Amino acid sequence: MKMNTKLIHGGVVADPQTGAVSVPIYQVSTYQQASIGQHKGYEYSRTGNPTRTALEELIATLENGKRGLAFGSGMAAISTVLSMFNKGDHLVISDDVYGGTYRVLSQVFSRFGLEATFVDTSEISYVMDAIRENTRAIYLETPSNPLLKVSDIKLISEICQAKNLYLIVDNTFMTPYWQNPLDLGADIVLHSATKYLGGHSDVVAGLVVTKDEELGERIHFLQNSIGGVIGPFDAWLLIRGMKTLGLRMRQHEESAGQIARYLEQHPRVNKVYYPGLKSHPGHDLAKRQARGFGGMISFDVGSQAKAEKVLEQVNYFVLAESLGAVESIISVPARMTHASIPAETRAELGITDGLIRISVGIEDSEDLLDDLDQALTF
Ligand SMILES: *Cc1c(COP(=O)(O)O)cnc(C)c1O
Repeated sequence: MKMNTKLIHGGVVADPQTGAVSVPIYQVSTYQQASIGQHKGYEYSRTGNPTRTALEELIATLENGKRGLAFGSGMAAISTVLSMFNKGDHLVISDDVYGGTYRVLSQVFSRFGLEATFVDTSEISYVMDAIRENTRAIYLETPSNPLLKVSDIKLISEICQAKNLYLIVDNTFMTPYWQNPLDLGADIVLHSATKYLGGHSDVVAGLVVTKDEELGERIHFLQNSIGGVIGPFDAWLLIRGMKTLGLRMRQHEESAGQIARYLEQHPRVNKVYYPGLKSHPGHDLAKRQARGFGGMISFDVGSQAKAEKVLEQVNYFVLAESLGAVESIISVPARMTHASIPAETRAELGITDGLIRISVGIEDSEDLLDDLDQALTF
């Protein structure tokens, strides 16, 4: 099955009981047992729920993995995966990861003795230098957020194999439509499904897919123990959204390419970050390891005041956190999604106060270009 067919026919296609073509919302917490321990595969909805199963099988199929697991948010998915490590273990992680991932590691898991070194994982020598005796995993976000730096999943997976480390990849920005980290050697791929997979700004959710069954069982044990599961209605909403992932991702990318090229030649824009531009340092690598460049663009207008002016003047770009939705979204990472990263660290990373991030929606690209054109006056 190819990707667009998988989006429609992957996972559980129809309800086994009734043949209903849309998997029903099994709004249920517990399941009748014929005698003690004798049930039809479901005992309690934290452990498993048929609507959630349909979603979990769908994402496993899309990522070419063995086991899918669905959570109540991207952060619940990430925290559950991180909880497989022990006190004294160490991770090497991309330095411009999602702000919430930085926060949970530096302010929550650090208290339980899990150590993390944040490095620019697009530079392989930094990754090598950061590996220690107690390193257990490398955690990548590629392209990264908000600077769209591209890390070499295959090369880093070879390092992981040689050193017996897990490779975990946050694939939120690319989605399985454009990139399949497990095929490139990763062990675990995770998503904030709140973004492109859901796609309609109406559900918060997270997904995990493992390369093998054994790892899948371990994460399921943690999912059931910690309990950050997705509810049946949200699982159903996600399945519904994911059916059009291919159509949406192609439109996001086509418009993003046009907008990135427009911004690149704009006199008031200092720098544009988009992997689809030939000028982007990760362009060739992105072309090699992914089938598309995605719909996220960051650009620098020089100062907080100028960035605020642009945000005030746009009409179609919704000023909001989040990304990956049908509507275009605009934000200033330094003041919004990445505000939990200390100012000095942000400055070192290049997440300046004048950096604007846009998530290109599926509106007509002519309208989006006109909108940016009238807003880039300051
Ligand atoms: C939003 C996001 C997360 C966190 O997901 P939530 O669903 O908001 O909990 C993690 N990683 C990336 C790349 C994100 O964009």
